Amino acid sequence: MQKISPPNFHFLTIICYNNHMQKPFLKRKQKETKPENPLNNPGYLIAITNNISGAVLVLNKEEKIVHYNAASLDLLNTNTNLLEKGITTILKLKTKEGEPFPLKEKIATSKVSETYEDLRLGEKDEEIRLELTLSPIKSNVFTVKGNETIGYVIFFRDITKTKSLEEERNEFISVVSHELRTPSAVIEGTISNLEILSDRPELDKTILKKTLETAHNQAKTLEKIINDLSTLSRAERNLDAAAEPVDIKALLNQKFLEHTPIAEKAGLRLNLNVHLKSNKLITNPFYIEEILQNLLGNAEKYTDKGEITLKAEETEKNIEISVIDTGIGIAKADREKIFEKFYRAEDFHTRKSEGIGLGLYIVKKLAKKLEAEITLESRPGFGSTFTLKLPKHQSQ
Ligand code: ADP
Repeated sequence: MQKISPPNFHFLTIICYNNHMQKPFLKRKQKETKPENPLNNPGYLIAITNNISGAVLVLNKEEKIVHYNAASLDLLNTNTNLLEKGITTILKLKTKEGEPFPLKEKIATSKVSETYEDLRLGEKDEEIRLELTLSPIKSNVFTVKGNETIGYVIFFRDITKTKSLEEERNEFISVVSHELRTPSAVIEGTISNLEILSDRPELDKTILKKTLETAHNQAKTLEKIINDLSTLSRAERNLDAAAEPVDIKALLNQKFLEHTPIAEKAGLRLNLNVHLKSNKLITNPFYIEEILQNLLGNAEKYTDKGEITLKAEETEKNIEISVIDTGIGIAKADREKIFEKFYRAEDFHTRKSEGIGLGLYIVKKLAKKLEAEITLESRPGFGSTFTLKLPKHQSQ
């Protein structure tokens, strides 16, 4: 009889151990080698497509719908069963020029996946903008042989929001660059005039002063546009958002002192009229300053003669700060629009003054951030009153 040496014995024990484990071990192995393919379950595919935010429609060769996801029902604004329906009978797309989009022809001639941008669906006010990707399904996906088209997948992405943001940004860049061009061209022109003037033996002091004044005014306009843009960008990114205890009376005093010489230079009187019991408010001083800067700046710009009053009073719920002027006033039709971006009244007084119509848009935006209300009362030819109503609930 063969004698089992210790190493072999050791080997045997291992085998025994594995024999002992064989059943569960094998079972596990079977599961790993043959995993269940979830795609064999039709519900799995439906769950996947229903979780896609864009509309997915699968068509057969005859262009009839054989599968669609939940987003398709949203897009077509329907609850009905779409199966077996012809795609072109239920979907009337238009091009961005308003012409009917030839979906039938595109499907009939589709050879490779193609994307069509900026299509329109629905009526004017509720029109949706869509990006459509049409992909033919080839038979070789399922069988090794052949390469014929056996159906189509149509995918829609709603691009309404993206497109309008893009267009708004483009309009913004175009208006701002146009507005920046005017003052910088005037500055360039006046400086080159000064160069010519400086060569003259007898320099006319009055002409020199006028030329310098023009350049200075245009430089101030440039500065105002750049400041407006920077404030807007900071407000949109929520910077400077920290609230702190603010002494409203001191802030108004400071604005009054800053603006008195400006008003005097324009031949106007600036008054300060403050009636407050509690001066302190937990709020954002940067936003309030910026609002007052814009309102006072406008009052100075649109008032030919008379006075401007910076007034503060307290009501039960609010601290109300008003900028009152005796200027050109604002017509009723303009009053509703002047807080919109880039809006400037058609009035010739407005047209002859510098500005790009961002100031009051910023005022409204910042007031909203302060949870405050901004109101306007005006009578053309008599003046305007802008009032910032700051809620007192934060007052100390
Ligand atoms: P901008 O002054 O740069 O044009 P704003 O947004 O500050 O832009 O103002 C928008 C428009 O509202 C002005 O163009 C002007 O027509 C009108 N406006 C603003 N403030 C006054 C005011 N105090 N008096 C008369 N019109 C005003």
